[in-house]
Amino acid sequence: MADLRELSEEVAMASRMLYETGLADASTIERGHVSLRLPDDPRRFAVKALGPALSQTYAEHVVIVDVDGSKAGGPPELNLPNEVKMHSCLLRERPDVNSVVHVHPRYAVLMSVLQERIAPMRIEGLQMFAEPIPLFPSPRLIIHEKDGAEVARLLGGHSAVLLQGHGAATVGGDMEDAILNMLHLEEQAQMNYLAFCAAGSGHASLTPEQCAEFAANMRSMGEAVHLKPEVAPTPRKPSGVWKHYAALVGRAEG
Ligand SMILES: [Zn+2]
Repeated sequence: MADLRELSEEVAMASRMLYETGLADASTIERGHVSLRLPDDPRRFAVKALGPALSQTYAEHVVIVDVDGSKAGGPPELNLPNEVKMHSCLLRERPDVNSVVHVHPRYAVLMSVLQERIAPMRIEGLQMFAEPIPLFPSPRLIIHEKDGAEVARLLGGHSAVLLQGHGAATVGGDMEDAILNMLHLEEQAQMNYLAFCAAGSGHASLTPEQCAEFAANMRSMGEAVHLKPEVAPTPRKPSGVWKHYAALVGRAEG
């Protein structure tokens, strides 16, 4: 069994990161969570309990939950977050996913209400936007199993799903990927909103051909002799983004 205290500290740190990145702030600072599947018990996960602001979440605020959405550990006085079914259903339906992020970020919410497509506008997270991001067409909270199951169905094999007028959920193989996917979603949503204001519906975006060219060019990086490492490749993870925010929320290493 993994050290639950250490795992709770990781989840709490990632929760504080949601505030530090601006993905949750002001009136949404207590709305949202990041969950992490237990490495030694894949039918359970850790997530912030109901109550604390994301900016003030520490290991003692983390609960353990079964993928059926029932509490399986943590202090008895802590209650499950209202939208625990978002996490339980997505983690149950996507065995490749180990972390789910749910927040209410303003530009993603705005675009979901406008029902304007979030098209690829910049290279960060480009591959996520090659196809339209699926939309759950209601602002209601994901309280019940049927809604959690519907969000999981809409998500399918994608990395993100929008909840109209409410927020979004992103997934990843770990918390770093899940949070970075949410950052990409919010930043691309902001770019699209600005373009929508400037040029209206149907504004220009990067074309499928440009996206494919970008991907092919990235794949060719291994052939660039001048980029060959002198000693060993630089590890891809933790990324500089993760290390930056991990340091800001109280941990030097990601
Ligand atoms: Zn929510």
